Amino acid sequence: MNLADFNPPIGSAETLAPNLRRVLAPNPSPMTYRGTNTYLLGAEQIAVIDPGPESQAHLDALLSACSDQEITHIVVTHSHVDHSPLAKALSQATGAPVLAYGPSSAGRSDAMLACLEAGMNSGGEGIDPDFAPDILLKDGEVFSAGDQTLTALHTPGHMGNHLCFAWDNTLFCGDLVMGWASSLVSPPDGDLTDFMASCVKIRDLDPQVMHAGHRTNCEDRLAHRASQRSRGTDSRATQTRPQAGAHPCARDIYRHTKSTDPSRHPKRLCASH
Ligand SMILES: [Zn+2]
Repeated sequence: MNLADFNPPIGSAETLAPNLRRVLAPNPSPMTYRGTNTYLLGAEQIAVIDPGPESQAHLDALLSACSDQEITHIVVTHSHVDHSPLAKALSQATGAPVLAYGPSSAGRSDAMLACLEAGMNSGGEGIDPDFAPDILLKDGEVFSAGDQTLTALHTPGHMGNHLCFAWDNTLFCGDLVMGWASSLVSPPDGDLTDFMASCVKIRDLDPQVMHAGHRTNCEDRLAHRASQRSRGTDSRATQTRPQAGAHPCARDIYRHTKSTDPSRHPKRLCASH
């Protein structure tokens, strides 16, 4: 599918598969593409996955879409402002608990905690500071979501408290894989090492379909891309660099660029850290 082809109506529930619908939130932007995808999982009892931004219109749309059903769970991939803030109002309206890995500070890596301790506290873009889930999910935890069953997978990198949710061979991947742009990794909540490990984790899971937080489903070709990306980084950054030296390493890293003129390749790589 061409990127421009993904332009669903805002606020209308669309059926993606049996027991799975999507409602697009009214928050299109350069960071969210057409808006946040809110998923409605279940037949009679519904789990709302990523309720989305604070928006009365979106709250009304979700309640209307589930007027013949019962919303029993609110499940959040991570607490960025385009995914989690509506959880509170939706919970108040329905009585459904909010399930997530933890508050916005949860799941930060040791490296990022050390940065914070050293006073490097820039970043933090788009965090929902008030996010307070009712039920904390652990990595690998199998739990009821509506009348379906999900498995929580802790997948930090984009954000420390990021979870993906496996539903049979379908994966709700939040913002780990965007499907239309590169995922934001901004310390101290984002961590690139964690991000790559999380990509490997979902590659090994081998889902057939991935439903992202924005844009449409990322079918297996995107899982493959994530896989290639992580594999490439493994081989280039982890294995090649220490063994081959800077010049061959740079040539390998930039092998997809057009220039083959060795004089334009860096003779040394000077890392900042
Ligand atoms: Zn995000």
